Amino acid sequence: MSIFSVLLPKTSFAMKGKLPDKEPDLLKWWQDIDLYQKIRDARKQRPMRSLLDGPPYANGPIHMGHALNKVLKDFVNRFNSLCGYDVHFVPGWDCHGLPIEAKIEEQFLKKGLSKNDVPVTDLRQACHQFAEEWIQVQKEQFKRLGFLADWQHIYRTMDPSFEAAIVRDVFELLKKGLIYRGMRPVLWSCAEETALAEAEVEYKDIVSASLYVKFPLEKTLLDKPTSVVIWTTTPWSLPGNRAICYLPDAVYALIEITKIKEGSLWQEKEHLLCAADCLQNLTQETGIEEYQALQSLKGKELAGWMCSHPLKEDGYSFEVPLLPGDHVTTDSGTGFVHTAPGHGLEDFAIGKQYSLELPETILDDGAFCPHIPLFAGLNIWKAAPAIQEALLKRHMLGAHVPYLHSYPHSWRSKKPLCYRATPQWFISLDDPVLSANGQAISLRQSALRSIEQETVQWRPKGSENRIGSMIAGRPDWCISRKRSWGVPLTFFLHKETGQCLMDEAIFQAICDRVGQEGVGFWLTDEAWSFLPATEKKEDWIKIEDIIDVWLESGLVHRAFLKQIDSEKALWPSWAVLEGSDQHRGWFQSSFLTSMALEGKPPFHFVFTHGFLLDDKGRKQSKSLGNVTDPHQVIAQDGADILRLWVAHEDYEKDLRASDQILQRVKDLYRRFRNILRYTLGGLHDFSPGEWIEPSLLPTLEKWVMHKLHLAHQQLHASLGIVQKDPASAGPMFDFQSIVRILNQLCCDLSSFYLDVRKDILYCSAPDSFERQAVRTTLMHIFLFIVRWLSPILCFTTEEAFQCFCKDILKADVSQGTSEQGHPLLELLIQNNLLERSEFLSIHLQNLILDLPAFPEAHNQVQALLDLRQAVTQALEQARNDKKIASSLEAHPYVFLPENLYSSSVLNNVDSLLTDLCITSNLTIQKADPLQDYPFFGEVGVLVRQAVGKKCQRCWKILPEVNILCDRCQSVTQNS
Ligand SMILES: [Zn+2]
Repeated sequence: MSIFSVLLPKTSFAMKGKLPDKEPDLLKWWQDIDLYQKIRDARKQRPMRSLLDGPPYANGPIHMGHALNKVLKDFVNRFNSLCGYDVHFVPGWDCHGLPIEAKIEEQFLKKGLSKNDVPVTDLRQACHQFAEEWIQVQKEQFKRLGFLADWQHIYRTMDPSFEAAIVRDVFELLKKGLIYRGMRPVLWSCAEETALAEAEVEYKDIVSASLYVKFPLEKTLLDKPTSVVIWTTTPWSLPGNRAICYLPDAVYALIEITKIKEGSLWQEKEHLLCAADCLQNLTQETGIEEYQALQSLKGKELAGWMCSHPLKEDGYSFEVPLLPGDHVTTDSGTGFVHTAPGHGLEDFAIGKQYSLELPETILDDGAFCPHIPLFAGLNIWKAAPAIQEALLKRHMLGAHVPYLHSYPHSWRSKKPLCYRATPQWFISLDDPVLSANGQAISLRQSALRSIEQETVQWRPKGSENRIGSMIAGRPDWCISRKRSWGVPLTFFLHKETGQCLMDEAIFQAICDRVGQEGVGFWLTDEAWSFLPATEKKEDWIKIEDIIDVWLESGLVHRAFLKQIDSEKALWPSWAVLEGSDQHRGWFQSSFLTSMALEGKPPFHFVFTHGFLLDDKGRKQSKSLGNVTDPHQVIAQDGADILRLWVAHEDYEKDLRASDQILQRVKDLYRRFRNILRYTLGGLHDFSPGEWIEPSLLPTLEKWVMHKLHLAHQQLHASLGIVQKDPASAGPMFDFQSIVRILNQLCCDLSSFYLDVRKDILYCSAPDSFERQAVRTTLMHIFLFIVRWLSPILCFTTEEAFQCFCKDILKADVSQGTSEQGHPLLELLIQNNLLERSEFLSIHLQNLILDLPAFPEAHNQVQALLDLRQAVTQALEQARNDKKIASSLEAHPYVFLPENLYSSSVLNNVDSLLTDLCITSNLTIQKADPLQDYPFFGEVGVLVRQAVGKKCQRCWKILPEVNILCDRCQSVTQNS
């Protein structure tokens, strides 16, 4: 060894991540040692936290939205685990439903087979296989994200055991009187020929033909022939019209048209009735140039009046009553609302209240029924011209105006939806059937009461209002679908009584059979074998409607979670975490089923996350070309980069992703990687004898320890942990703050402490106290940062921890620490910095509960940092003036005003400040008020050249140096 050589850091932890190459190896190791189970085993005695997985749909590769959701769940699980909880997490998949069935129908169509040519069992078999294939693909993709879970026991909604549980729960709901069959308007997709759930509906702006239509008054107190004017944006609903609603408190105006604009469809001298507030709009929009107001009437005065249908002469010969309706407004339209009981929820309610006819006008595919005059067979979306023409012919059209509005569409086919009354099965929200304290209350009441009583913590705060108003305003839950790929409602319905066969033994037999082989048999003739021999088949209908998939997934908490054999209670689940749209989807369906069947919620906490946007705040979409592909990010940069991106965004709001944002994340990653590498390098060959008790550390090292202590407290607060009690974790998971705090810590350490201590680390004697103190501090820094980063950078921290175990602990990671014989390991365990674990995985470590605080040292160094700033500025100036080349050539004189000079924290700190400023010497003096120094703030600094020669080893300039300084001399002599 040359006398000039220094103690360079050494580590096998590479500067470059090369994550795409390394991550798969770590995944394999975790799988080989069954890390999930090892962690469970290690926390056997600890309280449980089970996150219930809202199932993704198994019909394609995962996209960034999936990745975001699963990574967030993984963070929650891993932080819970780090806090010492026994974390239960089993992923699941939603398998049934329309998107898969439609895909399979397409495949059969390509082979020339229509839906009716394919036996239902073959169709279901093909759907099953399709779902299974995608589950395998998604499973591997989720694993690649570093997502730690029980992959051996996943749940699938198409598993026979799951289907049996669904069938049993549906029987339970039926027995409780919560399920009924009824004609009710449901949002119907003509393109897919099925009702859709609320959550499957999206709203798009479209332009519709809106019509102003005359309904001639027949029974009225007016003496001249007059028409009531209605305005509709859905002309196809006119054949279903059975009433007109008015607002009882509004003022209505009777007018005579005196002049019309050219091209107007109105006629002069015509008498019209509309709300007074709507007159201006009506006349302007529809070409009425002048009119005379004849009379004004209160809405109430219209009671009992009757119109005829505008197409009376064409076969619509029924009466159309005028009825009061509080839902009517005079903000738009005419103040009269055309009411078709089959085509709207308010219309339906009015129809029910006044016993109006509920006509069937539209077939499944959207064609008008054969009995509909003029329009039979015509598709409703193409019917507007024909309806206009028919109205014109009868002089019943006042105007047609294109109208832009937000209209419901199918999320899948993107085709418009209509409200259509069909016989469907419903879960009643309002029938008082559930008993609470002996009182019968409705499902809606019981759900709202639970929200009011805050039995669930909805996050972010305030989202309980969202779910509350959604449940308050929703219609009964339509649970039937006219499709094949799903769990059928396994009911027998009596043709005459309209009652379901209620027989516990039959229910049980059906459930048993489903549990053995799945529910598919119900859609074949075999199901009839469950009808008692005493009954005649021809008296009964076997219901073949399948169940809304949202009811199936909404029952996961019972059909899956509750079925698990576990010593610790898994139900209700500790929490759920999904996108904020699930307030009307899965959160709600889970909550309602649980309130119906259990009388209490299925979870304690509901966490939500936002959606994916690009860096300009636009929704990510293929057509905009701004989609972030998780597979590409993983292949190019690694899953840890993707994970760090998720963590550094505020997930409760919408999250932004783009190449530029990912570039910033990569910079952040490098900072974390560098500090792990630097500390590992500095710890090379650390021996237990070097360990210094924290209380004996020098001031600057105590300052570092106090920084860790402060960061530790802030990090705890980001997890909602109060009073050092990890059991209190959970009310919040502020990953963004965790990243921010760790980043700030790393910046403070690498731009200051590590830089300052390079000299000691590289040049001081291995057995010197000062170097041992630095190395002990590096040990604290490494174990602190690697642990806090481990839930987020799960791969990189494991890689770093393995390097630490191999290079520094000299322990074989595959052997674990159950064996004694690694003195350093024992020392770290004794000092509560490591935990004994079966394998040396960072993910088997717990949070360090307490770190010593050194407020005095911290205050002293903070005060010195102000002086350091002044000196640094002075040195910068001296460098610019070419007085010195590097800070080691300087000997600054620092002049303090009286108050600072006599301050106790700045007593006798020349040597420490020399270190902090990385100069060869430094002198602090009391400022002489008569002298004029260059001032930096209130501190005067004179930079002089350091006296002496430059030590050839450490480059400090000191009077004693010939070739080496005294320290370097002694180090090299002894080595
Ligand atoms: Zn030296």
